[in-house]
Amino acid sequence: MTCIVMDGKALADRLFAKLADDTAALKHINGARTPILATILVGDDPASATYVKMKGNACRRVGMDSRAIVMGADTTTEQLLEQIDALNADPDVHGILLQHPVPPQIDERRCFDRIAITKDVDGVTSLGFGMMALGQPSFGSATPAGIMALLRHYEIDVAGKRAVVVGRSPILGKPMALMLSNANATVTLCHSKTVDLEAEVRTADILVGAVGKPHFIPAQWVRDGAVVVDAGYHPGGIGDIDPTGLFARCAAVTPVPGGVGPMTIAALVSQTLTAAQARGPHR
Ligand code: NAP
Repeated sequence: MTCIVMDGKALADRLFAKLADDTAALKHINGARTPILATILVGDDPASATYVKMKGNACRRVGMDSRAIVMGADTTTEQLLEQIDALNADPDVHGILLQHPVPPQIDERRCFDRIAITKDVDGVTSLGFGMMALGQPSFGSATPAGIMALLRHYEIDVAGKRAVVVGRSPILGKPMALMLSNANATVTLCHSKTVDLEAEVRTADILVGAVGKPHFIPAQWVRDGAVVVDAGYHPGGIGDIDPTGLFARCAAVTPVPGGVGPMTIAALVSQTLTAAQARGPHR
């Protein structure tokens, strides 16, 4: 079987080129005002710091700017809410990214929900999630939005297919399941209390690994001809799904690294540009 390697890095590079053109066009009509993504990093988790840096670099690559806000590991919920309020009120800021996870003393849901809906370019607010779930115009959570863009690019028709998503976090598995359902897949959403995960995975025409455990899903569970999307990322470039032999017998597979990760960043930057475009000129 010829397997499509869903090259997220190559697609993201193409999207970045288009985003650079669109950003230049917006700046032209906007009196050179540059779209800005504000990133908030709380604490000193090195992986989170790397992700935030990559997102800032991606903004600059397309001619946008990013404003990096770094807060200490002992930040309180109230202090973070104050920071978000300031960014909501700042007319120069078009998008706000609060890097997940925040330290445990912080009420992350409350902070996500404080982000103004017009600046929720990472799709983390309850309102944005609800609008996405109902199929209304909204910024989707960046990783599943990037995955849907990847599936569309490779003309993988999800309508009528059995999709199995393993993992139901608010930023990844849950919105992924809803986006696939909105695209008319028949979706099973698995989690840590799923009784027979192997049996569920074996039914998948489209499998999404979003569990956060290295090579947790064995290759033998994946049926021949399936479309395999691995959103997991672990040190050493290991995903959530063991890829052994999958490229020989599956219809399409995302590589790790170079599959879902770059598409997450492309979706975030794209949604920031959309937020800036929606603001209109000189506002
Ligand atoms: P998370 O918040 O830890 O959620 C993990 C999910 O997996 C939970 O829903 C959990 O179920 C489920 N789970 C745990 N053990 C399980 C088991 N034994 N069987 C079935 N399900 C199980 O993780 P996350 O933030 O969604 O991230 C998941 C992975 O995606 C990580 O590897 C992360 O690095 C990666 N990620 C990548 C990107 C990217 O841009 N590439 C972005 C975000 C995340 P319960 O709900 O029952 O606890």
